[in-house]
Amino acid sequence: MELTNENFILIRNPAMIDENERLNTFKNWRFKRGNCTKDKMAKAGFFKVGKEDNDEVRCFVCLNVFEHWDRGDDPFKEHGSLYPDCHFAILQKEQADFTVEDWIRIMNQRKIILNELRIKMKLNELTVAISDSLN
Ligand SMILES: [Zn+2]
Repeated sequence: MELTNENFILIRNPAMIDENERLNTFKNWRFKRGNCTKDKMAKAGFFKVGKEDNDEVRCFVCLNVFEHWDRGDDPFKEHGSLYPDCHFAILQKEQADFTVEDWIRIMNQRKIILNELRIKMKLNELTVAISDSLN
């Protein structure tokens, strides 16, 4: 998924902080049984992104993309092994059990990562504008 203004709006959607809202993004999700069902994905912090027929998901905290799921994958474990710095993955607990401190950590990390993405996106725009102006 390319980082465009339009995609950024989807990525930064604050509604994705809510587990039920994340669950609602999984339309026609292909895993009906096993570890990768849509409610297990939403519990592990993921919401669906990209085309409807792929298995691309994004974490609402670290905002990283995960895809190519196998039925046996444990979403929480995959999350932690690919991005061990994500506070959501570090906590390894249900959102309903988060303490205020957990939420502060998570929301701070999310804010920092969103700012980094915003800067990256602006840099891309500038690079394109500069190369266009040179041609
Ligand atoms: Zn994460």
